[in-house]
Amino acid sequence: MKIDLHNHSYYSDGVLSPSEVVRLAKNEGCDVFALTDHDTTDGLIEAQKQADAIGLKLIHGVEISAMWSNMTIHIVGLGIDIDNKTLQAGLQQHQEFRQLRAEKMARGLGGAGVFGAMEKTQAIAQKGMITRTHFAQMLVQEDVCKDMKSVFKRFLTGKKPGGVGGKWAEYDEVISWIHAAGGQAVLAHPLRYRMTNTKVKRLLNHLSGAGLDAVEVVTGSSSTDEITLVSQWASEFGLLSSVGSDYHGWPNQRLRIGHLQDMSKANKTVWQDWSCLN
Ligand code: AMP
Ligand code: MN
Ligand code: MN
Ligand code: MN
Repeated sequence: MKIDLHNHSYYSDGVLSPSEVVRLAKNEGCDVFALTDHDTTDGLIEAQKQADAIGLKLIHGVEISAMWSNMTIHIVGLGIDIDNKTLQAGLQQHQEFRQLRAEKMARGLGGAGVFGAMEKTQAIAQKGMITRTHFAQMLVQEDVCKDMKSVFKRFLTGKKPGGVGGKWAEYDEVISWIHAAGGQAVLAHPLRYRMTNTKVKRLLNHLSGAGLDAVEVVTGSSSTDEITLVSQWASEFGLLSSVGSDYHGWPNQRLRIGHLQDMSKANKTVWQDWSCLN
């Protein structure tokens, strides 16, 4: 069974519409697919229509930004009820923070000589939500930087001109929103947080204490050694294992939906008890 539980559309910082991502997933041979946009579930209605039309099993998902120990982490919710009021109130709060943060980033960039950053970035963000990816695209488009990587280095992190601190909800609150909506909470891409392995283990320890259900063992960029390492952590902390490519559809992103490395049969999967698959 081909399964991919972490993907983006243009409702957050992906390039494709929800219908296009769903069709692509089907064409790539996916049997089960989750759309997990950052801090919004708005793309899922369109995605569900398309999934029904072509016969793809769609899992309703979301990737929520969260704070842990003053650092930003990402927690994916899978199998959520998108009509749940607690979840939607939380996402609303994050969307409002994104707007304020974008204005602050634009002011910072203005101070560094990049003018009209807000308007130019808004023109790129197709559905109103502004992410740092959109600022990065704008800075590449305006020839301020040569690629996304250098934008994040020069502008969008730490004390750089467009860097702003995260003020997302705390991890335990985010996990509780996902649970309120009947979903499972999954720590996304555990090896992408610029933390030492010791620190990631402390993170996993705290999150499992707050009810985390699973960790992403396989992501689009995982090596075999990384899969082995995260699998060990999953069993150490009593967590289920999830897989997701984190597909955004950027031209320079070589990975493909549904083309993920295998994990060991010993891993307990996040989908092991999903009734929709039996
Ligand atoms: P935000 O949630 O608005 O802070 O934006 C975070 C998004 O920016 C992530 O989900 C990635 O898609 C993207 N991103 C973060 N760091 C980098 C990087 N170094 N290079 C390219 N994209 C990045
Ligand atoms: Mn993203
Ligand atoms: Mn992420
Ligand atoms: Mn993602």
